[in-house]
Amino acid sequence: MLGLMQNQQLLISSLIEFAERHHGEGEIVSRRVEGDIHRYTYKEVAVRSRQVANALDALKLKFSDRVATLAWNGYRHLELYFGVSGTGRVLHTLNPRLHPDQISWIVNHAEDSVLCFDMSFLPIVKAVHGRCPTVKHYVAMCDADKLPADSGIPGLVSYEAWIGAQDSQYQWPSFDENSASSMCYTSGTTGNPKAALYSHRSTMLHAFAGALPDAMAMSARECILPVVPMFHVNAWGIPYGAAMTGAKLVFPGPAMDGKSIFELIESEKVSFAAGVPTVWQMMLAHMQGAGVRFSTLKRTVIGGSACPPAMITAFNDLYGVEVLHAWGMTEMSPLGTVCTLKNKHLDMAPKDKMQVRLKQGRGVFGVDMKIVDGSGEELPWDGKTYGDLLVKGPWIISDYFKGEGGSPLVDGWFPTGDVATIDADGYMQITDRSKDVIKSGGEWISSIDVENIAMAHPAVAMAACIGMKHPKWDERPIIAVVKKPGSEVTRNELIAFYEGKTAKWQIPDDVVFVEGIPLGGTGKMQKTKLREMLKDYKLPDA
Ligand code: AMP
Repeated sequence: MLGLMQNQQLLISSLIEFAERHHGEGEIVSRRVEGDIHRYTYKEVAVRSRQVANALDALKLKFSDRVATLAWNGYRHLELYFGVSGTGRVLHTLNPRLHPDQISWIVNHAEDSVLCFDMSFLPIVKAVHGRCPTVKHYVAMCDADKLPADSGIPGLVSYEAWIGAQDSQYQWPSFDENSASSMCYTSGTTGNPKAALYSHRSTMLHAFAGALPDAMAMSARECILPVVPMFHVNAWGIPYGAAMTGAKLVFPGPAMDGKSIFELIESEKVSFAAGVPTVWQMMLAHMQGAGVRFSTLKRTVIGGSACPPAMITAFNDLYGVEVLHAWGMTEMSPLGTVCTLKNKHLDMAPKDKMQVRLKQGRGVFGVDMKIVDGSGEELPWDGKTYGDLLVKGPWIISDYFKGEGGSPLVDGWFPTGDVATIDADGYMQITDRSKDVIKSGGEWISSIDVENIAMAHPAVAMAACIGMKHPKWDERPIIAVVKKPGSEVTRNELIAFYEGKTAKWQIPDDVVFVEGIPLGGTGKMQKTKLREMLKDYKLPDA
């Protein structure tokens, strides 16, 4: 017997319809590429998303055709989130930090039909458009009078002229909720990038889960600033969750420096912000230098790479901001775990609570996890045994777009490439990317643990630990360090700083001071590049 409930497909268009009807006055504030602040409401997002939909129909795009964006976090990008997916086309967010060669490769692989871009990225579009034969329409996300006369890009139109000519009435179509809604290519540190192709159903379920109190706790009382880019895994699903709950949204646009982000948090009374550790590093440095404090920020979700304990302490102890450590992947839409405490943790001593907060967190409903050994045997949840982390759930990929080489799944589970422990309470802690794990004398050393200790030193701005070949131990860790401007620390002082903080054999053999650590398009340290940089390095006793 089937239930007698209405069989309504879970579609992204329903989010903006809901936000218009129930939170029409809800505010969206954006710092624009032009530098000024733009503000409007969910009502206007809804109207303009419908104009986007009509504009796409006018181009005669087919169902599932790809519409690419090269854009910062901003209101026009938000309209494309709803307007493109809502019509059944696929929003393909391109990462502008990639090399033009990678961007054109990705555009061709995705077979994008339309490319909408912020004017900051005009040079990239100029560099790639000749190599992207599938793209038939270029839209500059600007006012009509800002369109350059001599762009050299055939048929270039301004976004405002493009949608301005369209009717604001539009009936969102209904279709199978499993239809593709958006896509995002992985950072592709090895080989060519691969695309996760999200569906309406996966995006909607992810939005429900992401808004839960033990995940990102989105609500109509929150003012949310996603520093995490809309070009990377849909800004962790925040645009959808915000529309679902009526939260105020604040978009930083291109101004991603610590000072600009801090000023926006203050002027817009942001209560919750989300981003990767490198962004917060810049903001904390600005705040400490300028001697300023938050007046409204309550929580921040930090993920994308391991959040150093020193950062959690700085937010919590200096500014009274709760840090929620979170973990996920492009292939997971991206939410996997969020580190919110359980009742049993509330009365713990601060240092014990900190031990919990440092972990990447527990699985949100919808994500199942397990750790396995080399032969695929499941390992215990004891907080000590580490193994390869596998996940499954309705917003985790089953295949890559045009996946060559078959399904990535192993018995229905997606291998994350991360190595982790899980404790008896279900809190997962990442030890390393499997390819970054350091093997010394048959034992594994967590590069994240080694980095976290260095990051707690007051003179260290950034630290990356890699393994170096060693004749006796196979590999030994060294730490590459960027010093804070105006601060000093010597190799021996930093090595001495490890004493008593970790097992002796886990202390790095050497410190290499560098000007900068190579960062990838999403702010993650690129250890392959760092290894290349240090290819002539020799260990002191090697
Ligand atoms: P991406 O698909 O580019 O978002 O990268 C996903 C990878 O980033 C994961 O597989 C992890 O290796 C890493 N990652 C994400 N969040 C965290 C975190 N909180 N701690 C450590 N690594 C993380």
